[in-house]
Amino acid sequence: MITLRLVPVLLAVLLLPLAPAGADPITDAEPVSSKPFGKIPKGEEVTLYTLTNKNGMSVSIMDYGATIVNLVVPDRDGKLEDIALGFDKLAPYLKNTSYFGATIGRYANRIAKGQFSIGRDSYQLTISDPPNSLHGGIKGFDKRMWKVEPVESEIPAVRFSRLSPDGEEGYPGNLYTTVTFSLSDENRLRIAYQATTDKTTIINLTNHTYFNLAGQGNGTILDQVLTLSAKSFLPVDATLIPTGEILSVEGTPWDFVTPTPIGAHLKEAGGKPVGFDHNYILKKGFFTRTAVAAVVEDPKSGRTLTLTTDQPGIQFYSGNFLEGTVIGKGGKPYRQYTGFCLEPQHYPDSPNQPSFPSVILRPGETYKTTSDYTFGAK
Ligand code: BGC
Repeated sequence: MITLRLVPVLLAVLLLPLAPAGADPITDAEPVSSKPFGKIPKGEEVTLYTLTNKNGMSVSIMDYGATIVNLVVPDRDGKLEDIALGFDKLAPYLKNTSYFGATIGRYANRIAKGQFSIGRDSYQLTISDPPNSLHGGIKGFDKRMWKVEPVESEIPAVRFSRLSPDGEEGYPGNLYTTVTFSLSDENRLRIAYQATTDKTTIINLTNHTYFNLAGQGNGTILDQVLTLSAKSFLPVDATLIPTGEILSVEGTPWDFVTPTPIGAHLKEAGGKPVGFDHNYILKKGFFTRTAVAAVVEDPKSGRTLTLTTDQPGIQFYSGNFLEGTVIGKGGKPYRQYTGFCLEPQHYPDSPNQPSFPSVILRPGETYKTTSDYTFGAK
């Protein structure tokens, strides 16, 4: 355990460039560093790992929930700002239900009534968003400790793993998962997931970062301009389960085929609470295709995000459930629409929708998926 925990530090030492005295603190930042980030109630220590590139961009991820805590990105003037919603300390992460920055598993988004069958076997998951199971159940991957693993990488990287036991939250099979975060000098944050099982099961992993390209706590995301590579989306029922229809976005408030401010048609999208919370269909097929899924631009700071994924869908969520009761980093209240999530994923409720791409993982197969979040400025 101790040796495993030391690996990123050792790696950081290996990767550390020889820094001349009095050099620039940005370019000389350690590529991988770690520091304690508090303790969970059982007493286990939580560690925050930070990957830094030559531009001073950095991402900090903790082993509780394999969660992105900070994402520090330059604007058009080179000004660095944290653009991920979250908390300064561990304690609020333990209680909060907004999934800020977390790795989501075993199944991102909702499964109707938490029920599904594989062949003749029926399963009941824990219900975390009545009447449905949301984001892996009551104690999903976001609320578990992950182990840090050795990782061979030419760029700063950290890898987390966890063995989810058979029956956890109702899911079948012992599922072994790794999530690897890496940061390149092109300001590309890559999140790569892998999983194997010893019993046929279902899987749908993603990351739940809330972005505000103007900086977390700096107002709403309504003026930030979104383009989605999606001509259709999945309408949902009152409990946010897809109805099974696939609708064209054309002429609807869900149309982001051309660059559109997030707030332009948000009210027309309706919903309770009002806003976007839908899965868009990126392409037919899955696991093997890579394509740009989304681009977001903040006209004020100039920051841009380009998201590339091999997943068949993406959940676009405009932070509708944030009510201002959550106080985030630096004492900033997180109100509605102060952050957006773009969650590359399989479609919600796929196990109950035979026409959706399969989310089955069998023994002997390896689930693999990668999403790239590349940041720029213009
Ligand atoms: C879902 C929302 C949910 C939110 C929880 C999103 O991925 O689409 O419906 O409320 O996660 O923070």
